Amino acid sequence: MAKRDYYEVLGVAKTASDDEIKRAYKKMAIKYHPDRNPGDKEAEDKFKEAAEAYDVLRDPEKRQRYDQFGPEGVNGMGGFGGGQSMNMDDIFSMFGDIFGGGFGGGFGRGFGGQGQGYRKPKFKGKDQRLRVELDLNEIVNGTTKKFKLKNDVTCSHCHGSGSEDGKVDTCPTCHGTGYVVRTQQSIFGMMQSQSACPECHGEGTVIKNKCHECHGEGIKQGESIVEVNFPAGLSEGMVLTLEGKGGAGRHNGVNGDLQIIIKEKPHEELLRDGNDLVYNLLLSVPMATLGCTVEVPTVDGKAKINIEPGTQPGTVLRMKGKGVPEVQGYNRGQKGDEVINISVYIPETLSKDEKEAMKKMDRSENFIPAESVRSKIFSKFRSYFE
Ligand SMILES: [Zn+2]
Ligand SMILES: [Zn+2]
Repeated sequence: MAKRDYYEVLGVAKTASDDEIKRAYKKMAIKYHPDRNPGDKEAEDKFKEAAEAYDVLRDPEKRQRYDQFGPEGVNGMGGFGGGQSMNMDDIFSMFGDIFGGGFGGGFGRGFGGQGQGYRKPKFKGKDQRLRVELDLNEIVNGTTKKFKLKNDVTCSHCHGSGSEDGKVDTCPTCHGTGYVVRTQQSIFGMMQSQSACPECHGEGTVIKNKCHECHGEGIKQGESIVEVNFPAGLSEGMVLTLEGKGGAGRHNGVNGDLQIIIKEKPHEELLRDGNDLVYNLLLSVPMATLGCTVEVPTVDGKAKINIEPGTQPGTVLRMKGKGVPEVQGYNRGQKGDEVINISVYIPETLSKDEKEAMKKMDRSENFIPAESVRSKIFSKFRSYFE
């Protein structure tokens, strides 16, 4: 795919100043940040695209070459413009550059790039999983259910700070930066490496007087009530992810997610085939022969259907729109059918009179299929194998 014009990507004029470019990128980076748009591929692409554009336009030399030669001009110049794509780590390290250390606000991604732009980690709470069984009626119509969950909740005693007296001190080991720099002699000369502070685990703060209820964690075991809206048309094995409905994060961090795994409770009479429901209607010999009106189960009560005289076993009838609605995509809400497959019950025992009657019928030519009927039934039979 051809790359879009970098100025267009950031929504700035070709004459934009460095400052305007930086501000435009900042705005887009926040808007499309993956932490804010989890699972949204389009946002992620926009986020990457903006980062690539910014990576080129922020560098005067690259920008000039881009202006003069287009994307080809910045190929192979190091960095990422034009050619290969940036990976997420590169982007996040660029982030650190722009936003400095203070880029908090729910973006919990720990360390920025090497030596630049350290961001304090926000702890994410535990993700939770819940298996929920829905019956066919709930699946077809959608439903709302409430669940009581045991999970980590913010400690009410310290309001999540983890401190008994509300006081939080700057970490004496890292002086609040959250990382320590080590200088080592190596064969390449002096090497500096940066790692999370061992005392505060990157938080930059320590609690001297820990909350006695949560032992300084800011969270404790508790219960929460979650209301879940199940859209119509779900099926076995589907997963609904409820962001932020999982356990609370340490020290007022970010909540984990709640994943709901759908289980289908089998219906007593109706089988599911994609969005169609299948019912096997068993008729007696006289019913199929003489025709009748019968009741069949549907997802919303009984329905009456007419059986024509002379209905063959294997005949399939369809009740349009009596199936399961499509849960997603362009045809969302569009319902499948109820498919009625007809079989005929052949009696296993007969009285003497019935036997006599049957023998008499057997001699009637009405009971012998004509050649045209034979081939019609055979071609239907053959179609199962195609
Ligand atoms: Zn506490
Ligand atoms: Zn520290």
